[in-house]
Amino acid sequence: MPTSQKRNGRYVAEVTKYQEVGVRLVMEGALTARDRVGVQDFLLLENYTSEAAFIENLRRRFRENLIYTYIGSVLVSVNPYKELEIYSRQHMERYRGVNFYEISPHIFALADNSYRALRTERRDQCILISGESGAGKTEASKKILLYYTTTCPARENNASIRERLLQSNPVLEAFGNAKTLRNDNSSRFGKYMDIQFDFKGCPIGGHILNYLLEKSRVVHQNHGERNFHVFYQLLEGGEEDLLKRLGLERNPQQHHYLVKGCCPRVSSINDRNDWKTVNKALTIIGFNEAEVEKLFDIVGSVIHLGNTQFGEDEDGETHITTETQLRYLSKLLGVNGSELSQALTHRKITAKGEEMVSPLNLEQAILSRDALAKGVYRRTFTWLVAKINQSLAFKDDIYYSGKCSSVIGLLDIYGFEVFQINSFEQFCINYCNEKLQQLLIELTLKSEQEEYEAEGIAWEPVNYFDNKIICDLVEEKHKGIIAILDEECLRPGDASDITFLEKMEDTLGGHAHFVTHKLANGKTRKAVGREEFRLLHYAGEVNYSTNGFLDKNNNLLYRNLKEVMCQSENPIMSQCFNREEVIDQKRPETAATQFKFSLAKLMEILMSKEPSYMRCIKPNDGKQPGRFDEVLVRHQVKYLGLMESLRVRRAGFAYRRHYQAFLQRYKSLCPDTWPSWEGNLADGVATLVKHLSYTPEEYKLGRSKIFIRFPRTLFITEDALEAR
Ligand code: ADP
Ligand code: MG
Repeated sequence: MPTSQKRNGRYVAEVTKYQEVGVRLVMEGALTARDRVGVQDFLLLENYTSEAAFIENLRRRFRENLIYTYIGSVLVSVNPYKELEIYSRQHMERYRGVNFYEISPHIFALADNSYRALRTERRDQCILISGESGAGKTEASKKILLYYTTTCPARENNASIRERLLQSNPVLEAFGNAKTLRNDNSSRFGKYMDIQFDFKGCPIGGHILNYLLEKSRVVHQNHGERNFHVFYQLLEGGEEDLLKRLGLERNPQQHHYLVKGCCPRVSSINDRNDWKTVNKALTIIGFNEAEVEKLFDIVGSVIHLGNTQFGEDEDGETHITTETQLRYLSKLLGVNGSELSQALTHRKITAKGEEMVSPLNLEQAILSRDALAKGVYRRTFTWLVAKINQSLAFKDDIYYSGKCSSVIGLLDIYGFEVFQINSFEQFCINYCNEKLQQLLIELTLKSEQEEYEAEGIAWEPVNYFDNKIICDLVEEKHKGIIAILDEECLRPGDASDITFLEKMEDTLGGHAHFVTHKLANGKTRKAVGREEFRLLHYAGEVNYSTNGFLDKNNNLLYRNLKEVMCQSENPIMSQCFNREEVIDQKRPETAATQFKFSLAKLMEILMSKEPSYMRCIKPNDGKQPGRFDEVLVRHQVKYLGLMESLRVRRAGFAYRRHYQAFLQRYKSLCPDTWPSWEGNLADGVATLVKHLSYTPEEYKLGRSKIFIRFPRTLFITEDALEAR
């Protein structure tokens, strides 16, 4: 075997990179381009179980601005925090119709690969993007959408759908994104978007599903964070007349709901320009003037709710002290002012079939005001998504029947979260990640197995951790955590966050993935607080504080407030609050149960499609270009389960290639296959690898592909090629 065995074990870089940097001949002993830029596919890491080697490979590539790397067909990216010249029209063209492995890793390659599979196999696709806040998920999903709307053919009479698909983003971002400590443009909701294509591959429509908007942000923001962008856009960019009609001061400092985080302005954000962009987008999507007006009436009313204050009269009765606010609320929400005032300060309950009205104290009135603000905002967001969906829905002619169209779904959803204090929100988010991990494992293993079967190669079982046990722990009927939580929420009397914890201890104590401070021997476990429970997730341990679980799970909005809102003359509000909800005395579904059902539906949608995965990594906490914080990255490699993905995928063969591609690349290494092989491709490959002295355990020949077990084998062959 020619050339340097001694190079074994070194990092070897992508073939395509040579072409890019023009390095073909590498001098012995010099730092080679391959050493410098790492491997383009983690499967080619010699020491694939080493986390250190994994991170070193990421770091080398990041240093060279190579932010994308594969684990087989999974795309890993590291946020560069700077504009790279790799997303131009020319780049898009370069990736069109080109095989995944023939060109350096890129998000366009992933997008194109799914598109081609959709076209040739007629199978629905989905791209699952995950990663922690600020890792680059939303930017990635926007680039994928841009790739499709730019490179796919347009349907003659429906060209505007591309614009509408693209313009849905600024609108949803205005209402659903906010500045947080982690990301100046953080999505505060999960999003799944279907892009529909007709049989010619033209985009013809879309549909969006949204998950778990962080509505608590409407009334409270942590230090250094903002409320949703739209509020600041309205104040900063709204025309004089508009603000006058809404009765709003332009300065955000004047408004309670907008200054809790003490950070009304953000240097990376231009609210005034964004206001224009959003208004234009609303028009393109098809909102008429009246709808836009009513929409901003609601945004304005939420600001007024924040400024609404209460006082106590001599009898100790609570009443609204801010008359002006009440007047504007009544006008903007289209409701009767005194009824609203009454509903904000009283609670109607039905006990033993009788309706009773009881007054609220100051504190309760403030809570009910905040609940209304959150409810109004969340429902408006849902309405907005529905309205966008109407605009994206394909309404055309005879061509459309389910069969003629196929879809690519894009999932941009929160990654695993572990904070100092983790609450109900993190519980839901991490549960969602468990479900996605389950899907990933099932589908990766399944597709591996299918490929082996198709190629006639014996299936070698892979050991992996099946996280179904954790999903069950959370969602199982009657005895899962959500079931116990719901039970406590429904139970009248003394139910509290603490009784919820005790119930869990009774039911789940002893479960391998559930821990509280109590130890079996009566002692206490110091690492878990008295009001906490710990889940051992697939990605690591998380302590959850039970504080607030019951409140957050109860979708609490008093009935009398709903009654007032149902009568609203603002058409958006009257669609958001319907009568049936008030007439129906049944308790509304709890937040966790709603989420559980919507996740189950999402899993069904994703299961029916062929998935591709993108895993995004944030290189540092300072939003800085060029800084690679190893500790932070290691954390994410762990939480994203990347080592596990690599292990599962590498358990069999590191590398596989179609006979033709393999022969084409290496035929010059064997006199019998050079300059061309006339016979059967499989025989050609067999002749070639025999000449290269591959041993039987190094490779297997399938029906159409060669499978190579170790990267080393491939590198030696690559080296031989290079030395020629
Ligand atoms: P996430 O959705 O994962 O929370 P975003 O996609 O909003 O994160 O990205 C956060 C920020 O990081 C963006 O506003 C942008 O400044 C930067 N960023 C993300 N991806 C890229 C990229 N591919 N190129 C340049 N900057 C990026
Ligand atoms: Mg995002």
